[in-house]
Amino acid sequence: MYRDIKCKKCRKSILNEGQTKDLFLNAHSSPVASPPEECASVQEQSNIFLNEELLPHWIILRIEAEKWSRGKLNCPYCDSKIGSFDFVSGLKCSCSSNFLPPVHVIKSKIDLIREST
Ligand SMILES: [Zn+2]
Ligand SMILES: [Zn+2]
Repeated sequence: MYRDIKCKKCRKSILNEGQTKDLFLNAHSSPVASPPEECASVQEQSNIFLNEELLPHWIILRIEAEKWSRGKLNCPYCDSKIGSFDFVSGLKCSCSSNFLPPVHVIKSKIDLIREST
């Protein structure tokens, strides 16, 4: 379980599981467990997917600005790119048994703070 996601560039907290439980999903749309039950997909190694029903307000505004099609997600503080969304293509996971959740953040652009237990 991730407690917090921070922008790697400005180090501000942009997503917080404390407020939104089950926000973070793996490539098969299951909540990210600890230890995570991972698909061997490339997408999952480099991305964290977000539950579209629990998206924070700033992400919804970005998606609405693109009329729920596709676009980039930028950090709300420093505007560097941290992910993207695609409600059009219906991309599949590389094991091709599942459609990927439409919104993701890129692991290399963020800092993941894990629950310390
Ligand atoms: Zn930032
Ligand atoms: Zn898969």
